[in-house]
Amino acid sequence: MKVLVTGGAGFIGSHLIESLVSMGNEVDVLDNFHTGRRENVDLSGKVSNLYVQDVSEPLSRARKYDRIYHMACPASPVHYQSDPVHTFKTAVFGTYRMLELARETGARLLIASTSEVYGDPLEHPQTEQYWGHVNPVGPRSCYDEGKRGAETLASDYARTMGVDLRIVRIFNTYGPRMLFDDGRVVSNFIHQALLGHPLTLYGDGRQTRSFCYVSDLVRGILSLMESDVVALPVNMGNPTEFTIHDLARLVLSKVKSSSTIVNHPMPTDDPARRCPDISRAQDRLGWSPVIDLSRGLDLTIEEFRSRLHP
Ligand code: NAD
Ligand code: UDP
Repeated sequence: MKVLVTGGAGFIGSHLIESLVSMGNEVDVLDNFHTGRRENVDLSGKVSNLYVQDVSEPLSRARKYDRIYHMACPASPVHYQSDPVHTFKTAVFGTYRMLELARETGARLLIASTSEVYGDPLEHPQTEQYWGHVNPVGPRSCYDEGKRGAETLASDYARTMGVDLRIVRIFNTYGPRMLFDDGRVVSNFIHQALLGHPLTLYGDGRQTRSFCYVSDLVRGILSLMESDVVALPVNMGNPTEFTIHDLARLVLSKVKSSSTIVNHPMPTDDPARRCPDISRAQDRLGWSPVIDLSRGLDLTIEEFRSRLHP
């Protein structure tokens, strides 16, 4: 198939293009290298075309695709908050561009949404039926509301114009190729532990997240794209929940690091708990993650080590 992956130079996108190329697809990538790297594309096998452009701008060259995976958007709070106006535009206008391309060419479109649509959730674990608890005017809103707006726009294109849509709501995903300065917790802790620097624990560390290894997520995304789950959001993540303090201790013991843990202030609107209910993905796709945090951290630490000391 002819496939377009936006954000293919990023963390998840690069693992996705690697799988798509190895399955024999003809893969084009669109990315502006905001948080992605050209090396990630090179590592992922032979892509046909690399379009370096902003996804929220009109397409420089429109082609006909069978499948569009729309992943382009900064995902780390540090990155998406550094230029919030651009983040919102990327989330909403970027999705609009891909919806128009899908409508014009008949491509099937999968959009990467996020657990952030649930905000600081009052229901636990989060099912797709939960509407969320989101601050519309806080520092995280550019991302949370941008992705909610993208889901709304995409759902209306599917309802009124028949765009063949898939929506994946991704929960915290980690793995090899995350940037050292990505700013998210797993990459920060591993990088800090390997360098012997203090681990930066925000707040008291009792907040929770559920961490999914990237190969599990990519398998789920590929399966959702080829499924008949049309326009219904599907949670994908690992439902085993950890406190951030426990994550810090686990990383320290795996790296055998003498780093200390230093408390920093809790960021504004940081969700207290997050854990996916993945019943829909299990029932409709037969998908569940298979790599637990211990194994996933081993694989990630090994790759970070080899990048730090080539
Ligand atoms: P990432 O930052 O590593 O990758 C994002 C990619 O998109 C980068 O290559 C970046 O250069 C590109 N990009 C950003 N803005 C762009 C723009 N305006 N035009 C063109 N390219 C642009 O992030 P990731 O973790 O790989 O996330 C990929 C997608 O998955 C994002 O849409 C994100 O919202 C979603 N997601 C990720 C997670 C996670 O835990 N990793 C969780 C929820 C949702
Ligand atoms: N966090 C932390 N130290 C860090 C980075 C993040 O304690 O160096 C915390 C952060 O406050 C949040 C959790 O780890 O409670 C997950 O943060 P991340 O940025 O990875 O993802 P998100 O908040 O988007 O789930």
